[in-house]
Amino acid sequence: MMIGQSVQNHRDEVSERGEPTAPPLMHVEDLRVRYRNGAIGVHGISFDVFPGSVVALFGPNGAGKTTTLRAVSGFVRSEGSRVVNGEVVLAGHNVTNSPPHKMARRGVSLVSERRKIFPNMTVHDNLRAMKTRVPKRRQIELTEQIDDMFPTLLSRRQLAAGRLSGGQQQMLALARGILSDPKLLLIDELTMGLHHSLHESLFDAVRRISNAGTAVVVVDESAGLALQMADYCYLMANGRVVQSGPRSLFEDQAMVAGGYVDGREAEQ
Ligand code: ATP
Repeated sequence: MMIGQSVQNHRDEVSERGEPTAPPLMHVEDLRVRYRNGAIGVHGISFDVFPGSVVALFGPNGAGKTTTLRAVSGFVRSEGSRVVNGEVVLAGHNVTNSPPHKMARRGVSLVSERRKIFPNMTVHDNLRAMKTRVPKRRQIELTEQIDDMFPTLLSRRQLAAGRLSGGQQQMLALARGILSDPKLLLIDELTMGLHHSLHESLFDAVRRISNAGTAVVVVDESAGLALQMADYCYLMANGRVVQSGPRSLFEDQAMVAGGYVDGREAEQ
């Protein structure tokens, strides 16, 4: 499926007659983002995220993956940049250019590539410091989920977060995201800089988050990694979506065989 084609045939969201059975949680249409210096970060990308699904955006450096996540979560605004065309629709509401705190209130949480943890605070205090509007009872449930998902963190609760390994810090960043009880969790560069032996436990965490009902958009440079956990994938290059489809479409293609997609090859 090439740019501009409908993504309504998402494999988990269509009836046998090919009609969508649920509206997307997030619908992004023809998004164009301009940075403060006039640079265009993405040139008109469209995608859908269905409730409880995992969507991967992957592609080479500079493809526009981070820009996309920061645009749909409102964070580009804090850099003096903005969506200059297109729209972001969340659960039927137009939320284009809404600020991050409003997006958070509507259930969108971003785990940024610059892992947002406090290195001098303990793991326990990092989790407690998450200011959320989540009711007490739900907070307890979420904390139990986190303890179950990341036993490594549970046994290190009193350790300063800065002393955790890179993989454990990523787990802590995910745990902080989960504590806000998001409907949609956006994860930038899940495995960046981490040894491959740690990847599987992070993929497993993403699958468990989506199985618990949270939709996830995960960004990764490597196609191989994205394809291990996504239901639906978007290959990006030069600020555009160049191909999209269910994971099976990409699994069959030679261009992802090496686990890394070159932008020029992707556009051919
Ligand atoms: P990477 O893996 O390198 O982060 P990416 O796919 O996430 O790649 P983006 O970081 O979104 O890509 O970059 C998309 C385009 O926007 C690039 O041309 C980049 O130079 C530009 N860009 C990104 N951040 C800024 C910024 N703060 N100011 C100006 N241009 C930017």
